Amino acid sequence: MLMHPVQQFHFLLEIARVLASSLDLKDVFQRILQSAVEILHGQIGLLALRARRGHLQVVAAYGLPPTLLPRFRPLLEDIPYSRTEEGWSISRQDILSRLHLVAEATGLSLRQVVAIPLTIEDEFLGLLYIFRTSERPFTVEEEYLLRTFADLAAIAVRNARLYTALQLERNRLRAIIDNSADGIMILDAECRVEVINRTLSRMTGWPVEKARGKPGHAVLHLENASEPDPCVQMEKGIPFKEQIYREGDIVRPSKPRITVGVTYTPVFDEAGELQYIIVNVNDITRFREAEEMKSTFISVISHELKTPVALIKGYAATLRREDVQWDMDTIREGLQIIEEEADRLTHLIDNLLDASRIQAGGLKLEFEEVDLKEVIKRVVDGFQVQTAAHQIVIDVPDDLPPVWADRERIRQVLDNLLSNAIKYSPEGGVIRVGAWANTHEVTVYVADQGIGIPEEEQPYLFERFYRVDTSLRRKTKGAGLGLFLAKALVEAHGGRIWVHSKPGEGSTFFFTLPIAGAPRENDRPSP
Ligand code: ADP
Repeated sequence: MLMHPVQQFHFLLEIARVLASSLDLKDVFQRILQSAVEILHGQIGLLALRARRGHLQVVAAYGLPPTLLPRFRPLLEDIPYSRTEEGWSISRQDILSRLHLVAEATGLSLRQVVAIPLTIEDEFLGLLYIFRTSERPFTVEEEYLLRTFADLAAIAVRNARLYTALQLERNRLRAIIDNSADGIMILDAECRVEVINRTLSRMTGWPVEKARGKPGHAVLHLENASEPDPCVQMEKGIPFKEQIYREGDIVRPSKPRITVGVTYTPVFDEAGELQYIIVNVNDITRFREAEEMKSTFISVISHELKTPVALIKGYAATLRREDVQWDMDTIREGLQIIEEEADRLTHLIDNLLDASRIQAGGLKLEFEEVDLKEVIKRVVDGFQVQTAAHQIVIDVPDDLPPVWADRERIRQVLDNLLSNAIKYSPEGGVIRVGAWANTHEVTVYVADQGIGIPEEEQPYLFERFYRVDTSLRRKTKGAGLGLFLAKALVEAHGGRIWVHSKPGEGSTFFFTLPIAGAPRENDRPSP
């Protein structure tokens, strides 16, 4: 006899509640099965789903010890289900004969069974079995009721599948966002950070956890921005309607500035309400630097090349005037200037060529044992004859060990440091060039008593085309390449270069070179 309709309703309601509230499939299956067994006055129930190979796998069992489960195999393998007009059906006869096998194997007095297919949109998912130990067969009405339970179980499967698919999609999206080389941030409609990826967290210095919930414009704050921040605009009541692109700098203390291009894409719902803002942050520092470099390059070249060329042209034109008879001194003086300016041009062109070679990675060094004292002496002698205002003192011990270096390149480094020491000591004074050795390396220094370099400028001195902005600098000639080259050359030798300086007191530039024969950092044991 069937349960009272009110009680049936109560059972179904309970299952619907579990279905809606629980994502634990096992739990949902168990409740459905238990209710189905009780409502149909059965004793045992099985819920089995189709596994990969087509066999059924028990996902919930009721009323029987787990040790007996393997003996239900006849009811789980090669089940004769078929598709009919009304949906999936199972041969009742076949199931009954399999029931006898199971009854024998288990020793349970299983007399009646009903098998209801679980289906979603024409897909056969599995079976719901209810067993009776009594002879009373299942009525059509009971089977019909059981179908409702099977449908509920199928809905649970579908929910779980959707949930898994959603979870998978979500994880995939999260992985894409997290591993993107671009910075990505998702803001809610109030412009608060919901998601921020690792790249952007690194760029801004905001840890992911801390950034969440903060205003987007606080996490990604741009200096020198080309456009206003759409979030700030929204706060002012200006609606955010379409994609916005802005460029600017992320500035952090004691970190290099990052120039970024940021795209803000608003996402609206069907009603046109703003849902999210997707923020895409592209590091364009190199691109911007290359652009700046190009324009600096052009202005430096035009300024630095034009001056000597104009002088050469001017003197040459003056000297060859046919209407004037020049005396020997004037001719000599004019030719000397032409020669000096031609030298300056050659020096600048060499520096430019070296700079581009370094950039292209094509700088080749010819290493040999070099006696530094001798190189220093040669360079100093060359400079000393050019200046009367400066006294250049050499302070190198006689037993300084030879270094492993490219003689010409080291001469170039010393050349650049000494010419700077003279250029930037307009009052003259002592310039000291010295060296000392420790176990692995020799340290060389060039110290002047000149104008010095403000501390905040010191980190940038070795950058290409960098010149400290002083009135003296504006008067002195230079392309801002000397120290860039000196650094590249010293580093190509495996050494370091740095400066100690105080404005008004002078500067000392130091660099190191490896001692010949000493083990070097980039030496590899030969195979
Ligand atoms: P430049 O061609 O301008 O001399 P460098 O790369 O050699 O280029 O030097 C970069 C800048 O560093 C210079 O413009 C100058 O402002 C500063 N500088 C270099 N050497 C000295 C020094 N000995 N004393 C003061 N300032 C210096």
